[in-house]
Amino acid sequence: SAFEYAPAPESRSVVDIAPSYGLFIDGEFTEAADGKVFKTVSPSTEEVLSEVARSGAEDVDRAVKAARRAFEKWSALPGSERAKYLFRIARIIQERSRELAVLETLDNGKPIKETRDADLPLVAAHFFYYAGWADKLDHAGFGANPRPLGVAGQVIPWNFPLLMLAWKIAPALATGNTVVLKPAETTPLSALFFADICRQAGLPKGVVNILPGYGDAGAALVEHPDVNKVAFTGSTAVGKAIARQVAGTDKKVTLELGGKGANIVFDDAPIDQAVEGIVTGIFFNQGQVCCAGSRLLVQESIQDELLDSLKRRLSTLRLGDPLDKNTDIGAINSAEQLARITSLVEQGAAEGAERWSPACELPSSGYWFAPTLFTNVTQAHTIARDEIFGPVLSVLTFRTPDEAVAKANNSQYGLSAGIWTEKGSRILAVAGKLRAGVIWSNTFNKFDPTSPFGGYKESGFGREGGRHGLEAYLDV
Ligand code: NAD
Repeated sequence: SAFEYAPAPESRSVVDIAPSYGLFIDGEFTEAADGKVFKTVSPSTEEVLSEVARSGAEDVDRAVKAARRAFEKWSALPGSERAKYLFRIARIIQERSRELAVLETLDNGKPIKETRDADLPLVAAHFFYYAGWADKLDHAGFGANPRPLGVAGQVIPWNFPLLMLAWKIAPALATGNTVVLKPAETTPLSALFFADICRQAGLPKGVVNILPGYGDAGAALVEHPDVNKVAFTGSTAVGKAIARQVAGTDKKVTLELGGKGANIVFDDAPIDQAVEGIVTGIFFNQGQVCCAGSRLLVQESIQDELLDSLKRRLSTLRLGDPLDKNTDIGAINSAEQLARITSLVEQGAAEGAERWSPACELPSSGYWFAPTLFTNVTQAHTIARDEIFGPVLSVLTFRTPDEAVAKANNSQYGLSAGIWTEKGSRILAVAGKLRAGVIWSNTFNKFDPTSPFGGYKESGFGREGGRHGLEAYLDV
């Protein structure tokens, strides 16, 4: 009845997914040179969504050649003309955001609440932001007439498919570079819809080329002699392989890699607010976030109170159909990722940490993992050191601010951290000692195109976002 509270799931029919897609090279969709294809599935149901052309080395060569031809004209355009294309792309993204949000949720498994309220608005914001820079590069603090590098080869992961694309493509185009981008093998669809948006915006042929495929296509792109700049987001292992691959060439490279963020809660923090921040920190996107707050460092005196509140809050999270607007926890992106999470969680239990999850029924098909909390964790435990990239929080304790800093910094990674306290002086003192590229205070996982993002240590180097993000695509 009309009086019953039964919100309809966001309808699948909002988006028209074709049974097959090609590669996007030189403004056209085309088959792979060797005719290979792969299937992309919906992680929440295992339903095949579409069959997609799989790029190989020959396709990489075609795409790089197209990008090189386009570079001559694109880089010679006045910045104000490039800005017009970027503004147009940003507006089309806004107009088609419902369709893109549903598509991203289907291909990735993340809740529609997140794609609708976080991914898509941020994607549009990045294009608007960098459109604004395109005619102001002389004033960006890099000297007069900074020049584009040429063809950018970009490889992105599956956790924020369209947002990672925006982080890479928007600054590259604003600065006059052309692009060949390889999306992750489990989430190719939103990048292909973006290719369609480039056509809709009238973007000149070859300025953006999209090559769906696997790691071999990524490696061929990185290796191509006519690529001038490599931008990679993904695992630290592949990032290191790429660094080795470009060593000895004149290619510029930026790497955005893994993380093991510490979320530090002091005894004067507002508990309810901190609990929300901890939940956002590790359960947003099922914890498949490079800057996730996957280590909770709680001051010993408030441990019991905080964990009680946290457990109560976790018991209210709704796991299930990602297209349902009320869903908090969606599906894990792939069977491989689920296996990786499962194995690390089993190792955590085997090493003696105490495992807890709220009562929660997992759907019978698809890839699912219940929100999980580990207490009695020490710094020696694998779950305190390795990136799990799943909805799993490891809880450690500390007594003094110095101990909190030492534990937070005791990691091979240095991407993110959070500080929860009422004291402004403590925020500044602790933040100054943390070795992390982004530090939030009394909030977590907040993103903004004006702010540079990137890692210390094995989380990579180079910054994306903000004015700093322009530098990675310019010779100054
Ligand atoms: P991954 O490194 O396996 O894959 C990422 C991308 O690289 C995919 O497109 C993949 O096809 C491609 N690839 C694989 N092997 C390659 C090779 N040899 N050469 C070139 N490209 C290759 O990573 P994943 O497991 O799919 O993604 C999760 C990882 O990404 C996590 O470690 C996470 O922390 C990291 N990540 C980091 C950020 C960041 O901004 N720092 C953002 C999102 C994800």
